[in-house]
Amino acid sequence: MKLTFTKLDTYRKCPLRFRLRYREKLPEVAMGGRNLSLVLHQTLQAFLFNARRDSSLDNLLRIYAAACPTPKNQKQEQRYAEGRRVLEAFHWREGSRLGKAVALEQKFAVMVDGVEITGRLDCAMETEEGLELVDFKFTREVPETVDPLQLQVYSLGLKEVTGYTSDILTYYYLRQERKITFPGGEVAVREGQEQVTGLAQQLRADHSFSPKVGDWCGTCSYRKYCPAQQGQPIPIPSQLPVQGTLAL
Ligand code: SF4
Repeated sequence: MKLTFTKLDTYRKCPLRFRLRYREKLPEVAMGGRNLSLVLHQTLQAFLFNARRDSSLDNLLRIYAAACPTPKNQKQEQRYAEGRRVLEAFHWREGSRLGKAVALEQKFAVMVDGVEITGRLDCAMETEEGLELVDFKFTREVPETVDPLQLQVYSLGLKEVTGYTSDILTYYYLRQERKITFPGGEVAVREGQEQVTGLAQQLRADHSFSPKVGDWCGTCSYRKYCPAQQGQPIPIPSQLPVQGTLAL
């Protein structure tokens, strides 16, 4: 079985959403207000990929200007300026550290109990406190509760591709200039392995893919199919049987 963290996390939050998205392959509809987040994500991805060769602010802003559609009205100009401010603040805080990065936009694949987990590390940098694994977030708001699982899974990936164990695990919410950190080390690696193993076991044995209501329902495109949201949900346009081999 092959999984990305996004698939694993979707299943963990709501098995029905996982089924609709990855088995039935019903497309999710992008919610409004994601454009700037997407442009920032693409900009940083392209910048980090080549940051060892050119980590200058000029280069970062050049990539942003190329990725960003030309603003056509005052609202778009404000959003463009907001994105630029976010990137300038990021560069001011982190630009000088990028030269010491151990991993930048590094792909990984790691086997955990027969499951291949794939992903891409944003960044791992040496700091005075040790090796810091950073995942950049572009959301409009910082969630009230933040779970370290993604970072724990990525610390497995970091160890697989570099041999290093991260000491600090960080979500960096760029639009809010806020970092949330968790302890790394072998404990985090083990927790990541245990959680992946447990979730993969549940997934293999799951034949019901029941809905699980939570904060994430607010961004779900499948409410019309969901018995937890509708008294009479419309039938799922299923192309695959519920039971049987997972098509991931
Ligand atoms: S609305 Fe919530 S419970 Fe229903 S499928 Fe979507 S995420 Fe799951």
